[in-house]
Amino acid sequence: MLPDPFKVPEVVEQWPYALPRHDSRHGTPNGYGNLGCRCDDCCDAISAYQVPQARKRRADGIPPGDHRHGTDNGYTNYGCRCDACCEARSRKVKRTPQADTSDTTTAQAPALVN
Ligand SMILES: [Zn+2]
Ligand SMILES: [Zn+2]
Repeated sequence: MLPDPFKVPEVVEQWPYALPRHDSRHGTPNGYGNLGCRCDDCCDAISAYQVPQARKRRADGIPPGDHRHGTDNGYTNYGCRCDACCEARSRKVKRTPQADTSDTTTAQAPALVN
């Protein structure tokens, strides 16, 4: 039987990611999203790629008259603080008090005590 050139078990154990170690697509959103690699470089790439989008979405906010006003989505994901969105948020908070506690502690971390 011929040796299988693709069977390199030692390498697979040390490198449990979807892409080969020296693949040039590591560290790209493509490596993470399309090729399924979860190495540090690919995770860094996808977060660097996604974070500006989330930041931009929040910075842009929601235009007046948009249907997302008055929803928790508008408040949480779009950072809108209009009356309708604040009201939607407080309605949701009242319904899920536990989620609210964790939300406020992560969103507004208390200042470090010396
Ligand atoms: Zn990778
Ligand atoms: Zn709003």
